Amino acid sequence: MRKGRVLLLLIILVALAYAIYHYTPLIKGNGINIVVESPKGYFSANKPVIVHVNDRFAGIKSIDVKLIAMNTEIELFKKTFSDRFIKRFDVDFKTNKILPQGNATFVVEVEDYSTNNYLNGFTKQISFPVIIDTTPPQVILLSGTGRVAVSGTSLAVFYAKDDNLKDVYLGVSHDGVIDRFKAYNAENIFGNKHVYISFFTYPLSKLKNYSTNIYALDKAGNLTVVHVPVYYSSWKLKKSKINITDAFIRDKVLAIMQKENIPQKETLLADFLYVNRVERARDTKRIRQICSNSIDKILWKGRFLQLRDSEVTATFNDERFYYYKGKLVDIKYHKGYDLASVRNAKVQAANNGIVVFEGYLGVYGNTIIIDHGFGIFSLYGHLQSFLVKKGEFVRKGQIIAITDTTGLAGGDHLHFDVLVDGYYVNPIEWWDPHWIKTHILEVISESKTRLSLVNQ
Ligand SMILES: [Zn+2]
Repeated sequence: MRKGRVLLLLIILVALAYAIYHYTPLIKGNGINIVVESPKGYFSANKPVIVHVNDRFAGIKSIDVKLIAMNTEIELFKKTFSDRFIKRFDVDFKTNKILPQGNATFVVEVEDYSTNNYLNGFTKQISFPVIIDTTPPQVILLSGTGRVAVSGTSLAVFYAKDDNLKDVYLGVSHDGVIDRFKAYNAENIFGNKHVYISFFTYPLSKLKNYSTNIYALDKAGNLTVVHVPVYYSSWKLKKSKINITDAFIRDKVLAIMQKENIPQKETLLADFLYVNRVERARDTKRIRQICSNSIDKILWKGRFLQLRDSEVTATFNDERFYYYKGKLVDIKYHKGYDLASVRNAKVQAANNGIVVFEGYLGVYGNTIIIDHGFGIFSLYGHLQSFLVKKGEFVRKGQIIAITDTTGLAGGDHLHFDVLVDGYYVNPIEWWDPHWIKTHILEVISESKTRLSLVNQ
């Protein structure tokens, strides 16, 4: 009899333990976990809603995704699972519902098949505020240069408006890449905070399949792409032959290597090729970095100045064939103008601007870079000494330096570049007052007229 009681007690205890384990939340609690990957902050119809749901202990019964805006529930997604053992589900969809714009609450509700809540199942809810924005930015092209020479400077003026504008720029696609040019806010020219200016250029391309577009993206992920019609014409390339001697390498190339802390290679030719390829590419990268920030004002006035009484000894995009002991060893394009005058000639600032660099820059030797605003820069290479400091405002015609042969220069001359956002452009246009009038000033005044029509 006593044995029977103990057994009964044992059975009751086991049953109780089973009940606690299976029907009460004491041991196995709510195992639902919800991770919202998107939306975050902003809600757009163009961006997918991505939610990861998993349950540690039981199968998922239902998932409910909705927005609450202006006291109204908008059902976005609802799924009920008949299979009771699915513990993981990823929600990924785009909505095609028409949504009110502005403040809302994003809600995810999950129920599971757990028996551990006295057979009721567990629920979990996540909710947070979002801003519904399904309107892409408004972009209107006001004016552009129209016809442009490859490696010439081009200009697009446009209107871009969005309550949550995040990024706006101009992209030139070619050869499978997109060159990105900054869109500078031009309120100080147009008296309208939604007007932008982008200067851009076309690089030399073998494929010649350029496409130019304005990209405007808002914080919700809505993107507007507006095509800029540009007719480009190619430039005739000059070819030139340059003989590299051992004396030139010892005198010029080794000096650059020493200045830039590059260890010498096994042969003089290897030294030259390293500097002409690796160091030159590194210098171009440094120049692009220096020219990545520009003041949002036009500082220049009228045509740019060319070195006084100078003779042009090399032009833009000259295809240079480098020969060493009678053999072709390298080919490079010359990205500026070489201007030779008397020895140690005075160098003038080509136009008004701010000095953003003065120092040694590899193959360019002692170099000055001036910011003229809206991404336009001028560069002066192979200099002897600097007469201006970084951060200094210089006037057009002001003497800024003396010419020399520093860097990869065979004789005393000025290497002169014009750059747009760090991309080399042909300086010849900027020396021409007629080109400036027809390609820049008239585009700006035409944009002003168009803008007055947009506002009506
Ligand atoms: Zn040069």
